[in-house]
Amino acid sequence: MSPAISIVIPVYNEQEGLPLLFERLYAALDALGRSYEVVFVDDGSTDRSVAVLREQFERRPDVTRVVVLARNAGQHLAILAAFAQTRGTYVITLDADLQNPPEEIQRLVTAMDQGADFVGTIRVSRQDRMWRRYASRLMNRIREGTTSIRITDQGCMLRGYHRTVIDAVNHCTEVSTYVPALAYTFARHPVEIEVSHAERTVGQSKYSLYSLVRLNFDLMTGFSVAPLQFFSVTGAAIALISLLLVVYLFVRRLIVGPEAQGLFTLFAIAFFLIGVTLLGLGVVGEYVGRIYEQVRQRPRYTIAAVLEDESSTARLRHLEAPAVPALDVTQPGRIVRGAPE
Ligand code: UDP
Ligand code: MG
Repeated sequence: MSPAISIVIPVYNEQEGLPLLFERLYAALDALGRSYEVVFVDDGSTDRSVAVLREQFERRPDVTRVVVLARNAGQHLAILAAFAQTRGTYVITLDADLQNPPEEIQRLVTAMDQGADFVGTIRVSRQDRMWRRYASRLMNRIREGTTSIRITDQGCMLRGYHRTVIDAVNHCTEVSTYVPALAYTFARHPVEIEVSHAERTVGQSKYSLYSLVRLNFDLMTGFSVAPLQFFSVTGAAIALISLLLVVYLFVRRLIVGPEAQGLFTLFAIAFFLIGVTLLGLGVVGEYVGRIYEQVRQRPRYTIAAVLEDESSTARLRHLEAPAVPALDVTQPGRIVRGAPE
């Protein structure tokens, strides 16, 4: 039988925080009184995270699986790698750093019991750096204006998805993506609930300013062409204004005669337009770069090993083989006992 709930947790250099996560997560899940599996995906950690995950797998092999990626693929691709391995009817994603309290899982499950197939979350009193909070708010606003995705708090990864949504997501092959937004496009009954949020107690955020900017570009370019349209419209407006200016100058030339004034104004306008052009070129480049990544059709991630309990999985694989399509995984799920340290 497949479990009722699959928990997906991406792990990237989180060795200090994992023991406490295990303690709280498994306690919270055992308290739910439903069948579950926890799918950890190690996103190419360079510390002892894989060894720590393996210890946990050996402690609870019946409910634990570990997908080890060969190299760092990024949080969202790592989650997609784990999605392809999940079997639960409800799939819930969670960060490994305990910023999303595992005790809140219960509230997501309740919302899904009530018929939601996508449970978004809003962090009440978000515990992050001030600049992160303001940047998020700005990005939320830009996304709301440019895409049809309605997610109040896009940064919170504690989210629940029904199997129907996960199956649809598993059929997507995009390289640059943003999991909550992608799943949202397949949801029929999305709801949002409020959850608490904690400070990161150990380790540091794995996102630099650059990777955050990249991620937000993924979100915007992946779900909308509005940025391109913005430049088409701006270009058309500037062309129109220039035309009016030319007519005005021509008429002045006939009435007033030759004159050479406003040289610096001309420079200022020219430089401004060069800036707009470069920005537009950059935006086009963002799309072209992603199209290039996509058409090369390289594997999105490489699975180095999957730690899972041989007996129970072999039985489940046999029962569910057609339901779980193996997508773009260069080495399809191997059953491995023991992984690289
Ligand atoms: N993460 C990952 N791959 C990455 C970056 C992050 O799997 O390349 C994981 C990380 O281990 C954590 C989650 O994604 O479980 C969220 O990362 P983090 O807490 O650093 O992000 P923040 O809370 O600062 O947004
Ligand atoms: Mg975090």
